[in-house]
Amino acid sequence: MVRRVSVLGATGSIGTQTLDLIDRAGGAEAFDVIALTGHSNVAALAEAAIRLRADVAVTADLSKLDALREALSGSDVEAAAGPDAICEAASRPADWTMSAIVGAAGLAPTLEAAQQGRCLALANKESMVCAGDLLNAVCAEHGTTLLPADSEHAAIFQCLRGETAREVERVIITASGGPFRGRTRDQMRDVTLAEAVAHPNWDMGQGISIDSATMFNKALEVIEAKYLFDLRPDQIEVIVHPQSIVHSMIGFADGSIMAQLGPPDMRGAIGYCLNYPERRDLPVDRLDFAKLASLDFHAPDLDAFPALRLVRRVLDAGGAAGAVLNAAKEAAMAGFVAGRIGFLAQADLVELALNALIDEAARAGQTLEAVLDIDQRTRSFVEQRIAQGIEQ
Ligand code: NDP
Ligand code: MG
Repeated sequence: MVRRVSVLGATGSIGTQTLDLIDRAGGAEAFDVIALTGHSNVAALAEAAIRLRADVAVTADLSKLDALREALSGSDVEAAAGPDAICEAASRPADWTMSAIVGAAGLAPTLEAAQQGRCLALANKESMVCAGDLLNAVCAEHGTTLLPADSEHAAIFQCLRGETAREVERVIITASGGPFRGRTRDQMRDVTLAEAVAHPNWDMGQGISIDSATMFNKALEVIEAKYLFDLRPDQIEVIVHPQSIVHSMIGFADGSIMAQLGPPDMRGAIGYCLNYPERRDLPVDRLDFAKLASLDFHAPDLDAFPALRLVRRVLDAGGAAGAVLNAAKEAAMAGFVAGRIGFLAQADLVELALNALIDEAARAGQTLEAVLDIDQRTRSFVEQRIAQGIEQ
């Protein structure tokens, strides 16, 4: 039977790599493409939707509906716009959905896709971070298989196949360390946006690249792992591994460690999700161990990268605390991208937001309304601090 597939965030880094794999596997001949969504890049969205004969193409930006209609004219693809239209598209029956919108904007559509009782490939880690209990509950209620597309979590997922989760002692998440690995806090004071987005190993969207530079990406991944694999905070470790070859590891009760390795190419993890439960040929380089000079590991520097310290507070607090960390981080990043604050002020602002809102968020619990409310209030808090001129 032809598989029905949807890609949310189809114009982004993960989205285009997902479409590349769908194209290589036969495109419109092999798949029934239901929905493709994007935001600002309507030309690329329309081009992909026409090529893959999607039922509907949706831009999140209401003001771009006419441009999208224009770009789709002459085709059978339906055009729609706005956040509600994205949710509607995500709720259309599909056998496999890739959730690859960036940021908390991905939460509501991801929850829609999770209600389909099929396969949900999750790149949008922010939805797990903000509402992991809720997302897990929705998947369980509807019998949806959640497949982690984040490379670390895809690695853990693969290491766990055929194993018993209760025998897992620890999960060791690897981190490249980003472009500023090895620097002190002082040495990062004046870094520019261009330096922050220049990741040494992975070619990714702007948001996750900056998150890698601050190591907030790893903080999000620690929370994501907690919810995906039902872990206690003390079971989750982070280790810096500059080569990004070992994608993550798990340690069992008998002291044995299982690791998943591969080149730093997201098509490995995305393709694993697309072909699950089978393994098929993927266009990724094969590792040549004779040519790998070394695989290094060292402890992260928590003074230089406070994100990894702050995440521990969120793990302990529970409830909607993850939504505070994520929203503060997104709002602070927007300030950095706009040149309104320096690089280090991002973590400072997240810490201030946690101080102000974490207790309340922990008590609030994880309904969608509560999460969206705390998300909004956290953003306002951070924006106010930026407007007042935060000291670095
Ligand atoms: P990109 O910025 O490259 O792409 C984001 C996608 O979301 C684009 O399709 C963009 O549309 C769309 N988008 C942006 N804003 C909105 C919005 N407000 N509402 C709806 N859609 C929106 O991000 P990445 O592909 O890098 O990352 C996507 C997700 O995957 C993130 O959660 C990230 O953490 C995660 N991830 C990414 C990895 C990577 O290698 N890139 C690795 C592991 C996880 P448009 O481009 O048209 O504006
Ligand atoms: Mg990752």
